[in-house]
Amino acid sequence: MELLHFTGQVWRPPYEANAQLLQITAGCTHNKCKFCSLYYGTKFRLSPISEIETDLQVIQEYQPKARRVFLTGANPFALSYNRLLDLGLLIRKYLPYCETIGTFSRIADIKQKSIEELKNLRHLGFDGISIGTESGDDETLARMNKGNTASDILEQCQKLEEANIRYNLVYLTGLAGKGKGHQNALNTAAIFNQLHPFTINFVSLTLFPESELYQEMKEGKYIEETEQERLLELRTFISALNIRTTLLGNTVSNAIPFIGMIPNDKARILKELNVTIKQISESELRQYREDIKSL
Ligand code: SF4
Repeated sequence: MELLHFTGQVWRPPYEANAQLLQITAGCTHNKCKFCSLYYGTKFRLSPISEIETDLQVIQEYQPKARRVFLTGANPFALSYNRLLDLGLLIRKYLPYCETIGTFSRIADIKQKSIEELKNLRHLGFDGISIGTESGDDETLARMNKGNTASDILEQCQKLEEANIRYNLVYLTGLAGKGKGHQNALNTAAIFNQLHPFTINFVSLTLFPESELYQEMKEGKYIEETEQERLLELRTFISALNIRTTLLGNTVSNAIPFIGMIPNDKARILKELNVTIKQISESELRQYREDIKSL
């Protein structure tokens, strides 16, 4: 049996569990976010077309009716419009039943593409793009070297909306640091409230020694939010959201997992959060985080 090519760490969102994975890139073009160690040690690499085509031949044999393909790598959407166009056509050639193509993208990757180009990519199947926005608070974004501002998030996601490309956002609780969770929650909600994300995914900051922020923390230059502060931040953020979307808080970094749609499930989720805040101690929650070995 022939195996697909995969290099370094491979991540896909939980909601892409049914998608056929296809490696297009490895590593991240940016690789500078202070909190991130996801692609530690993996240099950015673009898969050669011959390798992608070989993988598509394998997939054609084992999953000929694959309906969704998820492109792996931190941000395959960084590829130029023309490369993505060729890639979409290649996927369609080998997998004629493929309806949509998902991928991770940075905000900067969308910025390089015009609305017309995005519309064409949508016609080829690009849809359900996942963006690790993490925060909509300018101070936090700058402090973490995210490489974009809150207004960039707004502008680029509005372009996706105009092109009819659905997208998923991420909110990373705890990122702003001690004493700043409340501000981060309110400023991020103010940005997300102007958008129409398909889902908002919740992750809570879990630092590993390979990240720059871990080293800053060790040197006392960054103080983590307590687990309780993160839960209060999460409560503030969800309370302030007034859009219609799905909330997915079911990754390993969420000590207390939750899923729901807002506005319908908002009251239930807030009630569950309140119970957790009252009943689960800081030390129990912290122990959970320290036991996480990998995201
Ligand atoms: S958070 Fe995303 S964009 Fe930032 S370094 Fe990690 S993979 Fe790259």
